[in-house]
Parts: sequence; structure tokens; C-alpha cells
Amino acid sequence: MTRTDPFAAWDARAAELGMKFISDGRCPRRLVGKRHRYDKCWCATWINDHARTYERHGRRLVAWEPYDASPADLGPVFAAAAADGLRVVITGMSTWNPGSTFAIWFKATEATT
Ligand SMILES: [Zn+2]
Repeated sequence: MTRTDPFAAWDARAAELGMKFISDGRCPRRLVGKRHRYDKCWCATWINDHARTYERHGRRLVAWEPYDASPADLGPVFAAAAADGLRVVITGMSTWNPGSTFAIWFKATEATT
């Protein structure tokens, strides 16, 4: 019996969704040329889970894939992302654990790319 490498399975699910793994980068600010601010950064939240940077349709995105989130968790992230010129998409296209996790995608807006 062979064991499945969880990272290989993760990569395979991403590929099925047309997402190319770029890095383990988990700070969305880097998509708009801004620095990660370590423990003071708005990305330092528990919903930044199973995060990666991908390329999809020729554009980079940072995906976070938590199991759940409350409005109190999401609200500050949405506000900070908008202030940094990022667009946020909530999608069911989860690569980590489909059916249990959901995805929050951060993308640079057209004006910031
Ligand atoms: Zn950050």
C-alpha cells in the first residue's frame, strides 16, 4: 500500500483547478509590492491557514484556506485588504481539504498591477 504525499495531493488539486504553485508566500501585501509587517501585519490572523501563492489565468493570487471564519475575523481583513489595493474573492475552490475548507483569494486590483 502506498501512502499519498499530502503535499503532492495538494499540488494535484491545485493543478486540477488551473492553479500553479508559486511559493509558500502567505502575505497578500506582496501582490501589490508592499512588505509583510510581521506580527503587526494584518495577515497575522488565524484565518491565514493553508496559505500559498498561486498563478491562475496568468495572474498571481494569495489563497488562505481556513475551515471556518466569523464576520469578526473577516471584517478587519477585508478592510485592510481594500486599503492596500487588493481585491478579495471568497470561493469554494479549496485546494487543501475540499468539502471542509473554503478559500479566500487576494488579488491585486487592475490599478495596482
Ligand atoms: Zn503580511
